[in-house]
Amino acid sequence: MGAAASSAPAGGAAASGPRRKVSRHRGEGQWAAGHFTPLNGNEQFKKDDDGLNVRTRIETIYSKRGFDSIDPNDLRGRMRWWGLYTQRRPGIDGGKTAVLEPEELDDRYFMLRVRIDAGALTTRQLRVIGEVSQEFARGTADITDRQNVQYHWIRIEDVPEIWQRLEAVGLSTVTACGDTPRVMIGSPVAGIAEDEIIDATPALEEMKRRVLNNPAYSNLPRKFKTAISGSPLLDVVHEINDVAFVGVRHPEHGPGFDLWVGGGLSTNPKLGVRLGAWVPIEDVPDVYEGVISIFRDYGYRRLRNRARLKFLVADWGAEKFRQVLEDEYLGGRRLTDGPAPEQPVQQWRDHIGVHRQKDGRFYVGFAPRVGRVDGATLTKIADLAEAHGSGRVRTTVEQKMIVLDVEQDQVDSLVEGLEALDLTARPSTFRRGTMACTGIEFCKLAIVETKQRGSTLIDELERRLPDFDEPLTINLNGCPNACARIQVADIGLKGQLVLDDEGRQVEGYQVHLGGALGLEAGFGRKVRGLKVTADELPDYIERVLTRFRAERQEGER
Ligand code: SF4
Repeated sequence: MGAAASSAPAGGAAASGPRRKVSRHRGEGQWAAGHFTPLNGNEQFKKDDDGLNVRTRIETIYSKRGFDSIDPNDLRGRMRWWGLYTQRRPGIDGGKTAVLEPEELDDRYFMLRVRIDAGALTTRQLRVIGEVSQEFARGTADITDRQNVQYHWIRIEDVPEIWQRLEAVGLSTVTACGDTPRVMIGSPVAGIAEDEIIDATPALEEMKRRVLNNPAYSNLPRKFKTAISGSPLLDVVHEINDVAFVGVRHPEHGPGFDLWVGGGLSTNPKLGVRLGAWVPIEDVPDVYEGVISIFRDYGYRRLRNRARLKFLVADWGAEKFRQVLEDEYLGGRRLTDGPAPEQPVQQWRDHIGVHRQKDGRFYVGFAPRVGRVDGATLTKIADLAEAHGSGRVRTTVEQKMIVLDVEQDQVDSLVEGLEALDLTARPSTFRRGTMACTGIEFCKLAIVETKQRGSTLIDELERRLPDFDEPLTINLNGCPNACARIQVADIGLKGQLVLDDEGRQVEGYQVHLGGALGLEAGFGRKVRGLKVTADELPDYIERVLTRFRAERQEGER
């Protein structure tokens, strides 16, 4: 175990670790500089009581006495540590999002996020997710772009029973939200893909064992996002995670991981930077704990909007970050220099369609619409996966799903069964490449609707451009945040209110064009002044794509 973790008591290592010089200045609230006085309300409630402790109150008080008994600091703060957010009260339009107080936006129901690390599910687990959805969540169950499942309409009274059912099959909502280590994104085809560089599963399991439900890591400055994959497809959006391990082959030492830190979207988006270090699989958990501990101890805690790791990395640079990691958190151990990942040969970085596994069987990736499924459908997917595969299912970072371990003579029947559920393994470009965040239906920050609009946009574009088959991503967000990664989409649509031809405020989008991930990663350009109303969206995208096809240069995306 890394030096950082072994010295980390509840409340953070810096609280009792080696004392560093205390600055007289208020600084950025970094614990490593001795700034333990909370500098904002979030830091205060985290200091008052660890977010993990809210579970006991939910089980013993809130679920018994009901919504009105919930302490406001738990309701809008600590409940996130167990995956719970209040959802948006129905009927409040986007114009009121910024002007109403949080409690005016709060519904008495919750969103509950189930973390699915690496998107790995058994059919038994999927069935339980489906049952919980139908019994307690009015059938809702969205696949998120971080491989999670999100329920809506959850009553506080039902939460202990839901936990009990999920945990009975090895699922959890622990630190699915909050200033914590969130779900660990992993390649959904780890261990089975024919072209895999290295199977990251053992490292990921050890990372989970060390940090989940561990008070040493339950008070971070802000959320902490993790990605790990040994696939040459670069299939875990590693560029926009706080820490990422990307499979590479070292010319002398063989397969291992290239280490990235400091990526993140939202406001002030930044791509992660390489530390130039090659990490063998057995060292990944130590390095992971080192990076997360740097964030805990040196991360900025004064302003919430400067608290993500990306700001520290931007200020320090890769060289200093690596130095501090090695000197203070790896006990002086030097990391080995290593190569960058190679450009994937495929343009789509997903797992849609039928693919051969290394054991000769096949996996089948299929596309719901913008991640929207429901409990009944998930149960039917579990039935199909059991009948045709070995009982293993995966979720992906594109809001899609995969059935693993299908014998060749079972593939066609599985594909047909999925099609009958409107889950296609041969999706159009538009179904394959369109994602949408939660939007105004349930999200308190939203200004516009996204899921339904994304779904109808797919239908409309399929009708208008039936032969368009270029890889393309269209991502819709309901507000200026980046839950659906608009900045790195070919066409990113940021929800806001815009003026229509008659000067009325209506739902619409600011357009970003030309974003990408991969080795040519970059943020889309905000097209100055280009805002489209929701009604104009299909016309606008049709025009962009028609013109792109007419004027593109060879190889141009
Ligand atoms: Fe909510 Fe905005 Fe995130 Fe969409 S992008 S889920 S509207 S916070």
